[in-house]
Amino acid sequence: MTETAHKFDPTVLREYDIRGIVGRTIHPADARAIGRTFGTLVKRKGGKRVALGFDGRLSSPELAAACQAGLTAAGLDVINIGVAATPMLYFAVYHVDADGGIQITGSHNPPDYNGFKMMMGKKSFFGEDIQKLGAMAAKGDWERGQGTSESRNILADYAARLLRDVKPGKKLKVAWDTGNGAVGVSIRAIVDKLPGEHIVLNERVDGTFPAHHPDPTVPANLEQLMDVVKQRGCDLGIAFDGDGDRIGAIDGKGRILWGDQLLVLWSRDVLKGRPGATIIADVKASQVLFDEIARAGGKPMMFKTGHSLIKSKLAEIGAPLAGEMSGHIFFADTFYGFDDALYCALRLLNIVANARESLAEMRDGLPQPVNTPELRFDCPDERKFAVVEEVKGRLLKAGAKLSDIDGVRVSTKDGWWLLRASNTQPVLVARCEAADQAGLDRLKGELKAALSASGVSLPDESAAGHH
Ligand SMILES: [Zn+2]
Repeated sequence: MTETAHKFDPTVLREYDIRGIVGRTIHPADARAIGRTFGTLVKRKGGKRVALGFDGRLSSPELAAACQAGLTAAGLDVINIGVAATPMLYFAVYHVDADGGIQITGSHNPPDYNGFKMMMGKKSFFGEDIQKLGAMAAKGDWERGQGTSESRNILADYAARLLRDVKPGKKLKVAWDTGNGAVGVSIRAIVDKLPGEHIVLNERVDGTFPAHHPDPTVPANLEQLMDVVKQRGCDLGIAFDGDGDRIGAIDGKGRILWGDQLLVLWSRDVLKGRPGATIIADVKASQVLFDEIARAGGKPMMFKTGHSLIKSKLAEIGAPLAGEMSGHIFFADTFYGFDDALYCALRLLNIVANARESLAEMRDGLPQPVNTPELRFDCPDERKFAVVEEVKGRLLKAGAKLSDIDGVRVSTKDGWWLLRASNTQPVLVARCEAADQAGLDRLKGELKAALSASGVSLPDESAAGHH
């Protein structure tokens, strides 16, 4: 076969992954070119073996086969782990000591989407790396060779590793919703070994997602789980996104605990064994989280939103725990530091099983500020960063107290508000948090005024899409 070069649709080379609509912007030829180019990069770093996995989408097997062909054509040997959640592929990279990994996944997106998440060595492959991959493919800058491929079932090893950190306590009744996503592959191997009673919903892997959309940050997707938790009298409920790198949780009263609330509980737990440790959370997180980390004896660090960015920062500074509002949570205290929602669930069960309080009581014990959800509203790509810069310029001139680690997060005596540009969509993101409703209204007024000075109007909360 003669291959000279490959051009990707420009929209698919994104900040944290390669992703598009199958048959429109993503085709098997793209998967093959990704394999060939990624394989070339691995080979030039002296690597030889890559782990490959794929989610339960209907298009995934074909894309995985094409990607594998590209990898072997570059001379790489492929360990194919089959259908798996993204964190199980990450685990495979460590477990077989591969020189990199590729997961075919459309994450939480609709069924017709699919994409590629990559790991070079043990590190996230993102940002500039993905742009470079696109440029190399466009030139046909490829190595040539004849690698091998081998299928390997790592489920038992993966489950054993996760279960190693379980701390049994009181028996819990737990409802799990894998949302017909890829966690369905591994959930039985875990829950059948746990004490207590476990109810699994939507376990069958089905890329058409017949029950609901596999995104636990949208409350509508948690309704089925909330009902089961309440009807069956469960202690808690756990939900996953389509590829298992984000977690959602419900307390025994059927109420959602958001990523930043869960992080308070995990932080307290981790800090017991690691006093003074730094714990990282993204700029969208509640002030409650940063305050509670400090109160538990830790050093809170606010960082940019973006799972690859946070994962890399955690590795860089050696933090034991990091997380995002979005439900990407990274444990490195006794785990690998990647976002494995099933592992996070076990760490939550450890806390609840060994506490006198219920999860609902823990939730009620947290300070309860009044905040908006994440407000997302359209702004063209060529304008979004400029708007944030303009707002920041005016705020600095006015002597405002702010952090500009990612957009602007402005502190006032009422609380804080955030404005940042999405790295992945033509969208501005905002959030406000205050001690009471009057304070929240004042913050929203300030945000509105700051935006209107740049010609952008803040839509009503109901009109602005949630995460
Ligand atoms: Zn995901």
